[in-house]
This record gives sequence, C-alpha cells and structure tokens, in this order.
Amino acid sequence: ATVLAIETSCDETAVAIVKNRQVCSSVVNSQILVHSQYGGVVPEVASRQHLEIINQAIALALEQAEMNWLDLDGIAATCAPGLVGALMVGITAAKTLALIHQKPFLGVHHLEGHIYANYLSEPSLQPPFLCLLVSGGHTSSIYVKDCGVYETLGETRDDAAGEAFDKVARLLQLGYPGGPIIDKLAQTGNAQAFSLPEGNISRSQGGYHPYDSSFSGLKTAVLRLVRQLEQNGAVPVADVAASFQETVARSLTKRAIACARDYGLETIAVGGGVAANSSLRKHLQVAAASHNLRVLFPPLKLCTDNAAMIGCAAADHLNRGHTSPLTLGVQSRLSLRDVMQLYSVNN
Ligand code: ATP
Ligand code: MG
Ligand code: FE
Repeated sequence: ATVLAIETSCDETAVAIVKNRQVCSSVVNSQILVHSQYGGVVPEVASRQHLEIINQAIALALEQAEMNWLDLDGIAATCAPGLVGALMVGITAAKTLALIHQKPFLGVHHLEGHIYANYLSEPSLQPPFLCLLVSGGHTSSIYVKDCGVYETLGETRDDAAGEAFDKVARLLQLGYPGGPIIDKLAQTGNAQAFSLPEGNISRSQGGYHPYDSSFSGLKTAVLRLVRQLEQNGAVPVADVAASFQETVARSLTKRAIACARDYGLETIAVGGGVAANSSLRKHLQVAAASHNLRVLFPPLKLCTDNAAMIGCAAADHLNRGHTSPLTLGVQSRLSLRDVMQLYSVNN
C-alpha cells in the first residue's frame, strides 16, 4: 500500500509518502532551534509550530514524491504516545484529509514507527527480532513478533537513555540536545577516567527485571563527581562525558545481548536517536559479533523522529486490512502491547 503519513508527536513536523518498505518522499522540519533557547521542548510552542507548517509539509511531500491524492491508498498519523497538543495537529490533519479524499485513516503508535524504521533500511528484515529502542523518552527492549504484536522485555525505571544524555549535558553546561554534543566531546576524552554506576536493578526493587535499566542514579553520580572535581579545580569535561557515555553504552549493550540470547533472537535492530551514539554502536557491534548475532543500525535520519517510519508501519497494517475509525483520539501514553486497539480489522 502507498500511504501519506504525518508525525507530530514531539518537536519534529514530519510528512512522508511510503510505498510498503520504500520511501517515496520524506519531509522533516525540526523545531530544535526554537526550543533550544528554553533548554528543552515547550509543548505549547511545539503545537503552534506544527500548526504553522503542517500544510506546507504535506504539499512538499506530495511534490517530492511526484504524486497526487489519487496515488494514495491511505492517510496515517501518529496518535500516541506523545505531547497531546502536538499529536492533535497531525491526527486532525490526517483525519480531515482522509475524509475529504475518501481514503482509509490509520492512527500509528510512535514506537511501532521507530521499530519500522528498520524495515525501511533493511527491506528483507522479518520478525522475530529484538528491537533496542533508545530515544529521548524510551529505553526499551522489544521482542518483535509480528505486525502489531510486541512484547516489551525491558524498559527504563526512570530516565530514558536520551534523557540521561540531555540532563548530563545540561549539568556540564554543554547545551541542548545533549546526545550529539556529548558524543563529539567524548571523542577527545578518556572513557576510563572515571568509574560510574551502570544502574542495575536489584531483586529488592519490586520484582526482578534483569532487562530493565535505570539512569537516574548514573546522572546523580555524574553530578556528585562534577561537584567534587570542581572543588579540586578545573573539571575535565571531556573525560567526564566519555566516562558517562561509555557507562550508558555498556549497560545498554549488556541488556540487549542478554535479551537476544535468552529469547533465541538472532537479530538486534536498533532505533531512536541514541542509536546514533558512536560508543553504543561500537560496543553493540563488538558484542554482537562475539555472540554470532546480527545488529542493524538504520541511518540516522531514520533513527530520529520522521514520518517515513510511521508510513511504513501504516502501510503494513493497511495491507492486513487494519484501519482506524475517524473517532480515534490521541493518547499521551499507550503501551505497545495495546497497539491493536487502534484498529478495526476488515478483510
Ligand atoms: P520518543 O521517541 O521516546 O518519544 P524522541 O522521539 O524525542 O523520543 P529521538 O528523536 O528518537 O527521541 O531521539 C532524541 C534523543 O536522542 C535526544 O535525547 C538526543 O540527545 C539523543 N541523541 C541524538 N544523537 C545522539 C548521540 N549521538 N548520542 C547519544 N544520544 C543522542
Ligand atoms: Mg525530537
Ligand atoms: Fe521518537
């Protein structure tokens, strides 16, 4: 199926046209410059920005694909999880266009989109596989069984991996978003300079979840380390950044490899903005090779928020006869387990 998809769950206004696993056009307007002056995403500002450029982005996606409405089999938008006001802009546009042009409408789960980015970069990929989703809001190990069928094996107990990068960058006064800045600075630092806690979840912390992670303790440890170093004089910022990054990469790699091995999955597909991290890539590649596992890293523009991944998920659902009612609303939270609640199945 050929689908036009809209993604406005956070601070990217994105529209794409996707034919099954092939991207026909992909427009991504990042609002990073607008939000960076506040040190993070301001929800009200995000909604307004989406509203201002969504129509242009839709027109541009059609133009770049050299298509018109007759070429489309369906219209999709991210409907959960995310910022409610921001999601509303995308879903309202999609439902309106579906109604006007008499096309099926599909609401898409944002994380299912991140998983589908891997099908765009590796069209031969088939479930089952493990998806390590590491983004600004999530750190999840997902057992991908089929379209719409997911089991979350592990997630974060507190901060997400990307959030940890952003918070540590802020306490080192490096700017926003923190991930790319820390990654670059870490190249010049010594990753073995400081030993930091990986944040293992102990058996006493409400059930034993060996694949869960926790990064708030690590963030606090970095804060304490920096305060202590400040008293001794100048802080070796690059060494701190490199040691922090190394700790996150090792912790994520350990959990992903354990999940894949314990569940007999031969492929680890990575998604989310933190997949860009050079240390994570290195650690995961080395560990995967030594365990005879395949690891897939989609190109960066597919790892961070985009509408092509949403369109790819929507096309797969549409091919199976899944569509969403026009009464579907947005949800700030929605478990991946409940993805199929978004669809009614007509064959
Ligand atoms: P979610 O999908 O969970 O709602 P999101 O879509 O906002 O969150 P992404 O756009 O996938 O998140 O990723 C953004 C995050 O990725 C930011 O926290 C950013 O700091 C981080 N990031 C980007 N590049 C790197 C990098 N090279 N190293 C580490 N982190 C990075
Ligand atoms: Mg973003
Ligand atoms: Fe995302």
